[in-house]
Amino acid sequence: MVWSPLFMKIHEFQAKDILAGYGLPIPPGHVATTPEEARAAAERIGGTVVVKAQVLVGGRGKAGGVKLAATPDEAAEKAADILGMDIKGITVQRVLVAQAVDIATEIYLGVILDRTSKAITIMASAEGGVEIEEVARETPEKIHRVHVHPLAGYADYQGRQLAFDIGIPKDLSRDFARIVRTLVQALNDNDAELVEINPLVITEDGTIQCIDAKINLDDNALYRHKALAELRDHDEEEPAERAAREAGLSFVKLDGTIGCVVNGAGLAMATMDTIKLSGGSPANFLDIGGGARAESVENALRIILDDENVNAVLFNIFGGITRCDEVARGIVSALPSLSRQVPMVVRLVGTNQEEGREILREAGLVAADSMQAASQEVVRVAASPEASAL
Ligand code: GDP
Ligand code: MN
Repeated sequence: MVWSPLFMKIHEFQAKDILAGYGLPIPPGHVATTPEEARAAAERIGGTVVVKAQVLVGGRGKAGGVKLAATPDEAAEKAADILGMDIKGITVQRVLVAQAVDIATEIYLGVILDRTSKAITIMASAEGGVEIEEVARETPEKIHRVHVHPLAGYADYQGRQLAFDIGIPKDLSRDFARIVRTLVQALNDNDAELVEINPLVITEDGTIQCIDAKINLDDNALYRHKALAELRDHDEEEPAERAAREAGLSFVKLDGTIGCVVNGAGLAMATMDTIKLSGGSPANFLDIGGGARAESVENALRIILDDENVNAVLFNIFGGITRCDEVARGIVSALPSLSRQVPMVVRLVGTNQEEGREILREAGLVAADSMQAASQEVVRVAASPEASAL
């Protein structure tokens, strides 16, 4: 299963605004929502421009969402083509009109918070312009990495080493090292988990320019970056994740068939593992939190059942601060208003478990005794929904 960490994506133009604030070489540009605005932007910039779809997915170039325009009229035409275009299921509502550069070489440069090496890791490759996942799959030896020491921090020799590794001309290696330093700084300052320039280009006249930019921000740190938090694009959020966030639930959508309602992030992870071990696949990670009340349970069920892949739900509740009777009441009160019926398996232990089980029994639901039993049961009913426990 792909574990998707909780981060917030922002648009290229927003990432470029942030990085331009650090003095990085970024071609000037303006955002446009109509062809007329794109024409005006191209007039202000002068010369050839590049018109770029602003959507929160990669591979816009391949999808036809990045086009050069030699004149303001052409910029308006290209903007008309791109606005309204569908890129990987997202409708383009804005374009960035930026000064075009003459590209000699495209390089990949990314700074990530790498869990495997437990350090900020800088990755560079001479194979820029293509998605890094593709390079990693096909020619992994072309990706060069250095780790930033957690205490000593980034040192310029590391950037120069990378410059050497990927064949940056000697006279540009100091510029390159400075850009690397700035990206590490930006990652730290903004609590980002990724800052990526792909491609970083060497121009025909021998300068370095950042012509694309991507920043993923740590969701859990946004409380201390109010201005960044406001950059969230609600139009492109997964609707279920948005509904969950607004209901105060921590939720990540996955692609399995078993909906999970769990209290506590650790228990949620263990639950997903147990479902996998029992041969099933979880449809989501969902933590209703400690002290969860009936309303949270109802919200959680509504969000989970909106996912058409879900054909069974497992409740795994360990009552500490959370009271089992409160959760049981939430389950029972949600039942009549559910959009559809699926088998539900409940494991309920801890504070007020007897009261909780009694409430479930009265509603015709049975609580499983152990996490393992519950998990095996939910996998069984998910595989043949007609063999419902209900
Ligand atoms: P992505 O496909 O979503 O990553 O979008 P990018 O911003 O990376 O653009 C894709 C490709 O378009 C780049 O790899 C370049 O080859 C090309 N491109 C983007 N901007 C320019 C530019 O200013 N001049 C030229 N010649 N090509 C550009
Ligand atoms: Mn790119």
